[in-house]
Amino acid sequence: MQTALTDLIRNTPQGREADRILRTCVHCGFCTATCPTYQLLGDELDGPRGRIYQIKQLLEGTPPTAVMRNHLDRCLVCRACETTCPSGVNYHRLLDIGREILEEQLPRPPAQRIQRSLMRWLFGHTRRFAPVLGLARGVRPLLPASLRRKVLPRPPPLPVTPTNTERRMLRLEGCVQPALSPDIDQALHLLGHFGIAIETAPQATCCGALPQHLDAPEQARTLARRNIDAWLPLLEDGVEALLATASGCGAHLHDYPALLAEDPVYAERARQLEERLRDPIQILEQEDLSRLPLRPNPQRIAVHTPCTLQHGLHMNGRIEILLESLGYRLVPVTESHLCCGSAGTYALTQPELSQRLRERKRTALTMEHPDLIVTANIGCLSHLHDEQGPPILHWLVLLARDLETV
Ligand code: SF4
Ligand code: SF4
Repeated sequence: MQTALTDLIRNTPQGREADRILRTCVHCGFCTATCPTYQLLGDELDGPRGRIYQIKQLLEGTPPTAVMRNHLDRCLVCRACETTCPSGVNYHRLLDIGREILEEQLPRPPAQRIQRSLMRWLFGHTRRFAPVLGLARGVRPLLPASLRRKVLPRPPPLPVTPTNTERRMLRLEGCVQPALSPDIDQALHLLGHFGIAIETAPQATCCGALPQHLDAPEQARTLARRNIDAWLPLLEDGVEALLATASGCGAHLHDYPALLAEDPVYAERARQLEERLRDPIQILEQEDLSRLPLRPNPQRIAVHTPCTLQHGLHMNGRIEILLESLGYRLVPVTESHLCCGSAGTYALTQPELSQRLRERKRTALTMEHPDLIVTANIGCLSHLHDEQGPPILHWLVLLARDLETV
């Protein structure tokens, strides 16, 4: 695609990156077919090609408008378009840049800015989110059904995994997950069966995905630098890998090199960190799974692969292969490439579209009447949770629950 970015933008790091990305797009429109918002709304401007075109116009000097912002806001950043694109267009980075420049040129109305600040303040810190969640759990039976559904009940504790560990790995603690579903990080200790001890770095914090997607990219870069400072010395001191049990966080951590590309101190450190990032599934795939003492589980299981795992981390189908190799019975799931509508805080910023995608996803997941649904991201898990349907778990929790206790 030919571009003519304004000089003001072309001579910035963001402008150069955006220009490179725009030039890879050949405007074929293949991506439109797999875009959930295009499927729901049928408007080219709510599909990837239309959004790319709007960002191009913005960078070429067209004044931003509230209508343009609406079309960009409706994007889930699910990255299905990236998987479909034959030209390898790095759409989500272009969107990040487009949103950042749009916000600089046309700040949001005060009500939206306050809403986004509040979400960053609350969800980005476990110590703030946990008491609010505790309060909501206390009054859960009194809440209206639509709100009750979002307040996950406290999960039961998991059995302790015996450890005889010689190897060390780090895990990202995250922000909402430790409060919403602490069993997921407990479940990671099943790696003790392979001699792997799990550690955390006290100075590490939220991965930064939340501020990145809520108009605070500079805050996201600050969090990225802080995390690199917390993790890299440990990774240079014998810790093998950094694990993220939420694929949304994992996908964002892989963006650190792009976010810090122009930082003279952190660009190289971000690349070093990225080389040591792993999803737990990559660890289990390398191990002798016969060392996991699993009880047979006759339940029929539907797998929901989060967008961040399939389109962000390119690990589509890997949970299914792992579970089947462990003897689990899976049911087929249609439309597995489509987003469930969770997408970070999308359920709060775009409730109507989010709800429509949720219903569509739940229909696809429950079509074959599974006993259980498993996934790999806390956002999808809490969004799809429904007391009227089959329970939904992280796949690590499924394994941890099925371990024989000794
Ligand atoms: S993003 Fe890719 S699939 Fe979509 S129009 Fe551009 S080149 Fe085609
Ligand atoms: S990221 Fe998802 S919602 Fe956004 S344009 Fe691409 S396919 Fe559509």
